[in-house]
Amino acid sequence: MTATIIDGRQVASKMQAEIAEQAAAFEQKNGYLPGLGVILVGEDPASQMYVRMKRRACKRAGIHSVAVDLPATATQDEVLQAVQQLNDDPKIHGILVQLPMPDQIDEETVLSAVSLDKDVDGFHPVNIGALAMKGRTPTFTPATPTGCMVLIDEVGVDPSGKNAVVLGRSNIVGLPAALMLIKANATVTICHSRTPDIAAEVRKADIVIAAIGRANYVKGDWIKPGAVIIDVGTNKIDDPSDERGYKWVGDVDFEAAKEVAGAITVVPGGVGPLTITMLLSNTLKAAQRLAAK
Ligand code: NAP
Repeated sequence: MTATIIDGRQVASKMQAEIAEQAAAFEQKNGYLPGLGVILVGEDPASQMYVRMKRRACKRAGIHSVAVDLPATATQDEVLQAVQQLNDDPKIHGILVQLPMPDQIDEETVLSAVSLDKDVDGFHPVNIGALAMKGRTPTFTPATPTGCMVLIDEVGVDPSGKNAVVLGRSNIVGLPAALMLIKANATVTICHSRTPDIAAEVRKADIVIAAIGRANYVKGDWIKPGAVIIDVGTNKIDDPSDERGYKWVGDVDFEAAKEVAGAITVVPGGVGPLTITMLLSNTLKAAQRLAAK
């Protein structure tokens, strides 16, 4: 069996075109563009790259973006002040605080300071709480796990009644992904660094979301035939055959897994493009909600 390859770029490009259309319609109706404020603290190259990609995507989609770059030495008060300014700015409808932040900044305090109406990253404890509670609906959900759910839906799989295994329990990917799968009525197992036999858990899974940051960790013979594999992992490994000397791989051994799985994402070009798309989608939604108030 050879898996359906889930092309995140294609899904994202279709969704981004729709978002651009809706953003243009929003501007026509309201006289201003949806706006995203992006706070970056420090000079971490990976964070700088993610922020650049998000700003470029905003431009393509017709979303106004404002950059607030603070030095790595910024104090907690300075970061909170930047959040407050964006909270108060009527041209800004969504606020993104790029994580991780330097050690002197308490992330929870900063994320809690983001206005609930502008929490387009879905990291405010109230939004995460609503995601975790039965019968509650968060206003916004985190971009990467929401993108994973879009890709599962894209291959026509309904998580209801399925066994799902999430590898990783981080606040930004693993934990919210597991909560979303529970909301979608899957039976969910979360694996992490203290899980004794991850292979045995994966073997039972109809759906796997892998987000541990370990190159090619999940082996082909762990995969249940026909399973849907969403690989969030983004790992840089040496590759002398590539002119750059490196390449990006996921947490799943793609070549082996694709022979067994029913559907599988590629890395790069799988979940990554959806992460940015969901941020744009949440920003548009935030602008529409605020304009309607
Ligand atoms: P993280 O905060 O470092 O969390 C990693 C999680 O994996 C933790 O829960 C950890 O367990 C678990 N883990 C680590 N090593 C493990 C092992 N050997 N066996 C079992 N569990 C293990 O990472 P993250 O921010 O969630 O990111 C995960 C991966 O996704 C990274 O490769 C990252 O680059 C990628 N990512 C991609 C996107 C995208 O848009 N494509 C977005 C975000 C992240 P403990 O909790 O026990 O420590």
